[in-house]
Amino acid sequence: MFRQDFPILNDINNPVVYLDNGATTQKPQAVINAVRDYYIAENANPLRGLYSLSVKATEAYEKARQSVAKFINAKESCEIIFTRNTTESLNLIAYSYGMNKIQENDEIVISILEHHSNILPWQMVAKAKKATLKYMYTDVEGNISDEEILSKITEKTKIVSITQVSNVLGVKTPLEKIIKRAHAVGAIVVVDGAQGAPHLATDVQKLDCDFYAFSGHKMLAPMGIGVLYGKKSLLEEMPPFLRGGEMIDMVTEQDATFAPLPEKFEAGTPNVSGAIGLKAAIDYLNNVGFDKIEAQEKELIDLAYTELAKIPYVTIYGPKNPALRYGVLSFNIEGVHPHDVSSLVDYHGNIALRAGHHCAQPLLKFLKTPSTNRISFYFYNTKEDVYKFIEQIKQVRKWMGYND
Ligand code: PMP
Repeated sequence: MFRQDFPILNDINNPVVYLDNGATTQKPQAVINAVRDYYIAENANPLRGLYSLSVKATEAYEKARQSVAKFINAKESCEIIFTRNTTESLNLIAYSYGMNKIQENDEIVISILEHHSNILPWQMVAKAKKATLKYMYTDVEGNISDEEILSKITEKTKIVSITQVSNVLGVKTPLEKIIKRAHAVGAIVVVDGAQGAPHLATDVQKLDCDFYAFSGHKMLAPMGIGVLYGKKSLLEEMPPFLRGGEMIDMVTEQDATFAPLPEKFEAGTPNVSGAIGLKAAIDYLNNVGFDKIEAQEKELIDLAYTELAKIPYVTIYGPKNPALRYGVLSFNIEGVHPHDVSSLVDYHGNIALRAGHHCAQPLLKFLKTPSTNRISFYFYNTKEDVYKFIEQIKQVRKWMGYND
């Protein structure tokens, strides 16, 4: 139904079965047009000129910010900082908040489900400040228990940073419980929404998280535009992350004062076309509707899980109940390295799926496997995609010389 809007999915000579949406999503014509139209009619450096083209570019950029604020229900659009991606957003918090607030013997709590982008910045802060980095562990299906939340988040905890949805297991974390506990002990909560924002309607005020990070490219927008939401009171007390043009109030030879939010955190020429593309992506997603997005992904995951589970030599990781998965399924085929699986189904069926550690090496070690294959859906995927994928998977061992 939505497929015709995505040019890359409609190459009639070699139609791709694109199952790597957790890595990045494809772009609809509306997003491509928005970026193209900006360069055709509105391109100028925003904030630097009073001439009309620059004013137009500034207005378009700020409209995009308002659209993002509405998308995640931020109270004010100055709470939306444009970054390059989730990784930069998380680093911004670690450098600007973490490096200034964390002291010796403080504790930072994350979970074993985290992507490297939500581990390495906190390792850095913990090492620099002689603080402790603690992990909340899960059961084999990826669930964090109430006891784990209570025992790991304590009076010593100053920051909890947690993914909304695991990029390996597809499970949603108990954010509400974690946020409640963290706030009760006086800690702030950072949410990695990279795999959440594209798939679930997200309300940062209702969640009451302190920071929320996500990437445009995983939700139809161009690469190179990301978002950091932060509560205004916290962002206001934080020092700038990067320094230079576009983020100052006054500069003297030896000193500088900074612009108010959000410019304080947006040093240098911004990615205006990316922000405009992100607005077009949000408009597109709102038009589809998150109810429909969730329902379609659930149906596809359910089908993929049921069909894969019938194959005796396949191991599936994560929740046994497909209803608990948000678009992601990791698996292994006995006796075949995930890289070989990926290459073979690409070669024989033009199926794009991920293989490796998915930037989550501690989680894979916890799951006792060095790598997996991963399929990840978006709403434009179809049941036909799933059947094509299953048909190929059934042949992988034969192609590798097995007799089953
Ligand atoms: N966190 C999670 C859960 C992710 O899945 C990803 C992307 N795979 C990231 C963070 C990093 O996103 P980006 O590469 O866009 O910064």
